[in-house]
Amino acid sequence: MDIVQGPLPDGRPDTNHAPTLAGTTEQHALPGFEAVARLAANALGVPLVALLLSDGSAFWHNPPGYGDAPHMDGLLLAACREAARHGVAEVVADAREDARFLPAGIDPAQAEVAFFASEPVFGLDGQRLGALFVVDRRPRLALRAGELAALRDVAALAATGAALRCYLNRIDPSTRLPHRNAFFADLHAQLSRETDTAWLVAIETAPVARFNAFMRAMGHAYADALMHATAERVQGWMTPGMQLYQVASTRLAVLLPGSQEAPTPAQLDALVAMLRDPVDCLGIALTLQPGVGLLEIEAGELRGGDPLRRAMNASWIALGTARGWTAYDHRQDERQRQEFFLVTELAAALSERAELELHYQPRVELASGRCVALEALARWHHPTLGAVSPTTFVPLAEQAGLMRALTDWVFDHGLAQLAAWLRDGLDVRLSLNVSSIDLDAMLETRLAAAARRHGVPLARLELEFTESVAIHHDELTRHVLVALREAGVGIAIDDFGIGYSNLDALRRMPASSLKIDQSLVRSLDTRRHDAAIVRAMAALGHELGFRVVMEGVETASVLAAVRDMGCDEVQGHHITPPLPAIEVADWLRRHAITPAEASC
Ligand code: C2E
Ligand code: MG
Ligand code: MG
Repeated sequence: MDIVQGPLPDGRPDTNHAPTLAGTTEQHALPGFEAVARLAANALGVPLVALLLSDGSAFWHNPPGYGDAPHMDGLLLAACREAARHGVAEVVADAREDARFLPAGIDPAQAEVAFFASEPVFGLDGQRLGALFVVDRRPRLALRAGELAALRDVAALAATGAALRCYLNRIDPSTRLPHRNAFFADLHAQLSRETDTAWLVAIETAPVARFNAFMRAMGHAYADALMHATAERVQGWMTPGMQLYQVASTRLAVLLPGSQEAPTPAQLDALVAMLRDPVDCLGIALTLQPGVGLLEIEAGELRGGDPLRRAMNASWIALGTARGWTAYDHRQDERQRQEFFLVTELAAALSERAELELHYQPRVELASGRCVALEALARWHHPTLGAVSPTTFVPLAEQAGLMRALTDWVFDHGLAQLAAWLRDGLDVRLSLNVSSIDLDAMLETRLAAAARRHGVPLARLELEFTESVAIHHDELTRHVLVALREAGVGIAIDDFGIGYSNLDALRRMPASSLKIDQSLVRSLDTRRHDAAIVRAMAALGHELGFRVVMEGVETASVLAAVRDMGCDEVQGHHITPPLPAIEVADWLRRHAITPAEASC
C-alpha cells in the first residue's frame, strides 16, 4: 500500500483534510511503521494506528481488514498531540462523550472516534520520543492485560523506527539537532529560484586537536554534552526564522531565512563572546575557542559548489583570530586549497617522483677570490605548476610534518654530489639549510649517518639556521649545536639582521659564520642608513669571532661597498645565481680567480 502524504502545517488542525488510508505530516516515511501498524491492528483489532513524535511529525496507517477507520483529521491530530504532550498511557474506552474527539454540534452517535488509546514511546536512552495511538470508530471495553502488553511492545518497536528515522533523515541522535542532510535539503528548498541568496553562519566549536583532547580526557558523552551546551548558546543568540544544524561532530551552522540581512559585526561579536564564556558541562567548567565564519550563498552555487566547505573554511580561519569571526574570503580559500594540493604533491615528490633537485650557489672569499663553499638550495619542478619556490614549499613542509623527510632528502642528495666533486678533485665545502624542526638531539646523528654513507668528512659541511631559530635556542639546542661544532661541522646564522637578536644570546652561539640578510645588503650602495647598519653588524660579527658573509650581492657597486666593510665572503646574483649541479664544476674552473678579479 502506498503511503499517502497528508501535509498538515505543524500543529494546526486541518479539518478539510481528505480521508486517507495512511499518511504523514513529514516528507520522509518512518522506517517500518507500516509493519508496526499491522502488528498493532492485529493484536488489538483496531483499524487506525498513529504515531506522533516530539519534533512535531505525525504518521498514521490504516491496515486493511480491520473495518472502517476514523479519518485522521485535524481534530484527531490535535487530540493526539495533546495526549503525546502529557506522555502518559491512556485508554478511552468510549470516546464519543469526550469533547476532545467530538466536533462541536455533532451528535455523539455520529462521532468518528469512539475508542482511543495511547502509549508513550521512549528512545533507547529513556527520553520520551512521542506516543503511539490506536483508534476505532466502535467503542470498546477496557483493554485486557495481554492487549496492553501488546500495545507497549508495539510502542517499543515504533521507537526503534523513530530512532532510525532521526538518523537517516534529519536529526543528529546525540544533540537532536537537524544534521547535514537536513541542512542541504533546507538550503535547496530555500534557494529554489535562481536569484535567491541566503546567509550562513558556520561555527567551529574548538580546534579539532583540542576537541579530541576533551574526548580523550572526558569521553564521548562529555563531548556530546558539550555540543549540546554550545547549541543551546547559539540558539540563545538566534532570532526567529534562523535554523540551527549540526553539520559535523564539532561544527554547527545557522541558516538565515532568505529575507534576512547578514548579521551585523556587533551581532557576530556577541555570538563569539557568548561562545567564549566558560561552559559548565556536566559540572566541569571549560572554555571553548570558537571560530565563526560568515558566507553568503547564491542559488547558482548549489550545483557543484560546496557552500558548507567554504563556510567552514572561514570559521576555521577565524579560530586563530582575536576577534573570533571572519567573513569568507575567496582568495584566502584558494590559497589554502592550493597549499593543500601542494602538500600532497610534495609528499609524493619526496617519496616517489624525481621532481626535486638541488642548485648550488657559490660563496666567494673576498680576500682570496676562491669559492669556499656552495650553498645547496632546494628546487621543485612540478609537472603542471612549474617551478615552486622554496619560500613556498619549505614552510608548507614544516606545517605538514614533511620537513624531516625534506631535510633528509637534501642531506642525501647534497652529500652524494659533494662526494662526487671531492672525487673529481674540487676543493669545496657544502652548506645546507636546516629548519627549526630539524634542530633536535637527532640532527647530528642524521647528518653523520649521511656523511658516512657518502664518505664525506663532516668538516666539509656547514649547517645554516635562520637567525630566529638560532638565537631563541634553549639549552638542548645549544648542546646540539656545540656537538656539531665539535664534530667539525660549521654553523651559520642565516638571514641575520632582520630578527630581534639578543646580543648576549648571539655572543654565546656556537656559530662559525654570520650571514647578513640580503634585504639589508641589496641596497647598501644607495641607502646610507642600511650601510651604517651592515657595517656595524659586520664589525660585531668579527668581534664575536664569526666569519661575516654578505648575502644578496646583486651589483658591482654593492660588492665594492661590502669590500670596504671588511666582510669575509660574498654570495649573490652578481657573483652567480644558484647553479644546477652539472654547471658547478665548469663555473668553479672558470672562476678560479685572483683576489683582484674577485671584484668582478
Ligand atoms: P636562504 O638560505 O637565505 O638562501 C638564499 C636565497 O636568496 C636563495 O633563494 C637564493 O636563490 C637567493 N639569492 C641568492 N643571491 C641572491 C641575490 O643576489 N638576489 C636575490 N634577490 N636573491 C638571491 P631560494 O633558493 O629561493 O631560497 C629561499 C629560502 O628557502 C632560503 O633562503 C632558505 O631559507 C630556504 N631554503 C631553500 N632551500 C632549502 C632547503 O633545502 N632546506 C631548507 N630548510 N630551507 C631551504
Ligand atoms: Mg641559507
Ligand atoms: Mg639567507
